[in-house]
Amino acid sequence: MIKIEKSDRLNSLPPYLFKEIDRQKEEVKKQGVDIIDLGVGDPDMPTPQHIIDALKQAASDPANHRYPSYSGMEDFNGAVARWYKRRFNVDLDPLNEVVTLIGSKEGIAHIPLAFINPGDMALVSSPGYPVYDIGVKFAGGETYFMNLFKENNFLPDLGAIPDEIAGKAKMMFINYPNNPTSAVATEGFFQEVVSFAKSHNIIICHDAAYTEMAFDGYSPISFLETKDAKTVGIEFHSLSKTYNMTGWRIGFAVGRAEVIQALGQVKSNIDSGAFQAIQIAGITALEGDQTCVKAMNREYAERLDILAKGLSGLGLSFEKPKATFYVWIETPAGYTSSEFATHLLTKAGIVVTPGNGFGAAGEGYVRMALTVGKERLKEVIERIRSTGF
Ligand SMILES: *Cc1c(COP(=O)(O)O)cnc(C)c1O
Repeated sequence: MIKIEKSDRLNSLPPYLFKEIDRQKEEVKKQGVDIIDLGVGDPDMPTPQHIIDALKQAASDPANHRYPSYSGMEDFNGAVARWYKRRFNVDLDPLNEVVTLIGSKEGIAHIPLAFINPGDMALVSSPGYPVYDIGVKFAGGETYFMNLFKENNFLPDLGAIPDEIAGKAKMMFINYPNNPTSAVATEGFFQEVVSFAKSHNIIICHDAAYTEMAFDGYSPISFLETKDAKTVGIEFHSLSKTYNMTGWRIGFAVGRAEVIQALGQVKSNIDSGAFQAIQIAGITALEGDQTCVKAMNREYAERLDILAKGLSGLGLSFEKPKATFYVWIETPAGYTSSEFATHLLTKAGIVVTPGNGFGAAGEGYVRMALTVGKERLKEVIERIRSTGF
């Protein structure tokens, strides 16, 4: 036996704060409790059939069994560019301004390797998707957390970032519609981000995973719609949430050519691109009938209405989301995030995510995902009502 010693890189990772809730969940499950899981941001509905059919056909074609092109198939990148034009009226050059990803998480985790030297600084929102911070740390960089507060509609206060930090920062990660707060960005905010990026020479990475998941006629905006945004950064996008394709691993990044190309350079040294049959199915998703997206959003809107009415009736405080499938709920008096999550799990068999798992500024909240059907959501409300808090 040799001695196995993990790298400082792994040893210095922040503690995995969902570990305790995962352990409790296993324990409650063992007791035979019928658990309702609102914890994970993974759509429960299947991938639309026409996308599956496209994969089946493409999977049988031997031309797709060989290594794909590193930066993505010309046709997939073209479909992405056409989709951005249709959806956001943003012009993209498919050759230089689009890169295909093996899920957007892959690109988000790898991009700091293209720009961060040991000791360099990145600005990351807290609470936030944990991959931004981890990617920066894996590249040897340091994270400065921009806290998101309710008072500021869960948008970072760029004016509160100390000049010396802004001066040292090379990258900024933001995400709207936001996971976990479900907040949405305004055009004015994105304009502020562009001018902040220009004054401090910071590359903006906007994570747009949820722009297609919205309700009540609200249509989320792309960062790239903002004047000059394409000169300061890129946007990450994913087919995962829009088309219920989390298991397929397909996403993309678009924007400033030098940034996209540097990300592509990192990737070409690590992976060999996404399975072409999946890219072909992805083209079908982006270019095909979008009725499936509307139908899913209608379902989420109905679920949201049930959950929101119920939670309000119970006296819990939250902002009703315009987008994403998350509800970001203030913990009631007397509970921390973890205590409230533990209470709901052990007393009512309901899994929610404690907000502090998304960063220190998430303390005081829990996140519920709309990933179970309407009847189950009614039961969530009934269970909380009879358990109390
Ligand atoms: C789900 C999610 C992603 C992406 O996922 P992939 O499946 O890797 O494309 C990215 N960012 C946020 C904030 C998410 O919630």
